[in-house]
Amino acid sequence: MTIALHPSVDQGIKKGIENFAGGTLRCQCSHDPVEVQVASQVLFNHACGCTKCWKPAGALFSVVGVVPREKVTVVAHGEKLKVVDEKAPIQRHACTACGTHLFGRIENKDHPFHGLDFIHTELSRDAGWDGPGFAAFVSSIIESGTPPSQMAQVRQTLRDKGIEPYDCLSPALMDVLATHAAKAKGTYREA
Ligand SMILES: [Zn+2]
Ligand SMILES: [Zn+2]
Repeated sequence: MTIALHPSVDQGIKKGIENFAGGTLRCQCSHDPVEVQVASQVLFNHACGCTKCWKPAGALFSVVGVVPREKVTVVAHGEKLKVVDEKAPIQRHACTACGTHLFGRIENKDHPFHGLDFIHTELSRDAGWDGPGFAAFVSSIIESGTPPSQMAQVRQTLRDKGIEPYDCLSPALMDVLATHAAKAKGTYREA
């Protein structure tokens, strides 16, 4: 039995095109879709197993990455957007008609990822986006109903597709978080 994780993992992970300058994200409404222009390649694109990230129907994982917030512009039907949870650190701006999350934004200036917006490149028809490079919060898919007994197969499937499963963020991103914490505490050392 094969396990469907997410279309952009199941169908083979795409490598980004060099000098790719971004594209337009569109929600799933057939009429008057919300459109968001992203003038950047996606960074740290990854599969995410958390329960907060938007995922397409039938997928066990979300695929989400970041771009500088100043590169993100709502270009059509912004009136349909609403923040899913105002209290969450990442404010996910979703279409009120179809539920798709167009971008997530952090307004807290002290947050380590402030300045970066979270996006789902599958909402764009433009070719050239970097595919997911790792999987984060893999164990959390149990919280959305995956039986624990399937986890070994899920992790093996991720590895077979070429992405390493982690139960938090990747080591590179955990280092970014710890560096931010060290700087805040005054314990940060260059070398
Ligand atoms: Zn929509
Ligand atoms: Zn997530």
